[in-house]
Amino acid sequence: MKVSFHGACKEVTGSCILIETDSTKFLVDCGMFQGKSYYKNIEDFSFNPEDIDFVLLTHAHLDHCGRLPKIFMEGFRGRIYSTAPTRDLAEIILLDALNISRIEKKPFVHPLCQEGDIRHLMKFFTCFDYGKKRKINDDIEIRLRDAGHILGSAIFEVWIKENGITKKLVFSGDLGNMPSPIVKDPEFVDDADLLFIESTYGNRLHESKEMGDTILIEEIKNTIAKNGILMIPVFALERTQEILYRLNSFFETEKIKGVNVFLDSPLAQKATNIYKDYISFYDKDAKDLISKGDDIFDFKGFEMIKGETEKVFNASNPKIILAGSGMFEGGKIGTYLKKYLSNPLATLLIVSFQVDGSLGRKIIDGQKKIKVENKEIEINAKISTIFSFSSHSDHGMLFDWAVRANPKKIFVVHGEKDASTSLAESINGIVPDYKNIYNF
Ligand SMILES: [Zn+2]
Repeated sequence: MKVSFHGACKEVTGSCILIETDSTKFLVDCGMFQGKSYYKNIEDFSFNPEDIDFVLLTHAHLDHCGRLPKIFMEGFRGRIYSTAPTRDLAEIILLDALNISRIEKKPFVHPLCQEGDIRHLMKFFTCFDYGKKRKINDDIEIRLRDAGHILGSAIFEVWIKENGITKKLVFSGDLGNMPSPIVKDPEFVDDADLLFIESTYGNRLHESKEMGDTILIEEIKNTIAKNGILMIPVFALERTQEILYRLNSFFETEKIKGVNVFLDSPLAQKATNIYKDYISFYDKDAKDLISKGDDIFDFKGFEMIKGETEKVFNASNPKIILAGSGMFEGGKIGTYLKKYLSNPLATLLIVSFQVDGSLGRKIIDGQKKIKVENKEIEINAKISTIFSFSSHSDHGMLFDWAVRANPKKIFVVHGEKDASTSLAESINGIVPDYKNIYNF
């Protein structure tokens, strides 16, 4: 068996692992590179996409599914195995990525890819629920387990028979941060021969979720008290739904009133609607609220904005604005940063991981002047951060999860160099380089 790594090596984007046996070639994820590695999306694959028999897709984030259109345009015609929500979410995420590349005039992963190609690609999905072993071909069986990261996210267990010997490979995908709101907590796996584990927060411990809640409530109350503006950049998937879920609860329990909340992200609105289609994937707390008649993503004063940015500008203070994207790339957040970042009455609350080199990272690192969409802005707004809302496990959780998988060999991927190295040192794992090949 041959294992090679085609992204997310010593970085957090571009997830793509190729497994080759005597009879089968398959990929686990085929994600887009983002941030400073974006140029790698245009590079040729070092394998022939026509030769790939199938893809296991762990979840719908762009850094895991974003190069599916590229392999499809280059001849891949196998099945893509995922959960049903992953398929639905991947469709809107890929269409949005294509649209953004056009607006920003940057090359898409494949220059000829059109909307119709992405819709065609969706026909190649085969969707499975968690928990049941499925035979893929004579030599390969798979089982999806809940990764607790975003709606529909999966850990893949893969049993491969080669020369009469069966080996179990486990791919963590992205692992959720326990306790995960809305979605269930990550499941544990055991007896892995080979484990592939993410390491986004491989060198960090999250502050407690209660601390995150406290900061969020405090910033809302401060914004109301100073009649200001609270901007929260959000990822369309999970973070938006998580924040709405929390606000829905706080507005009742903390008796917060007199502030309007706007969500300006067409993608987040579509994703929220897909969340509503899959209540069976929710955890008990979320299901209990729904059975009591609560709409967990709606509350008094909340409004989804459909392109009417002026309406948000004209709304009187205090106000809370959720806008995409969580990593400040694309999306509507730029419009609000340009308007409010220089305003001392404003607060920018960053609730997502900010990749090295991103605008968000520069702001967290204390830069006083930044360029947003070619406009230089002086930062007078208060900058506040919450990292415990991360939908990734931290070092302690990753360590525990890896130990319980009882693996013979571990590859540590999907983390910046320091994060991957730190986790690898603690669990005796290998941190592969881009395009590294290993034989077993
Ligand atoms: Zn993810």
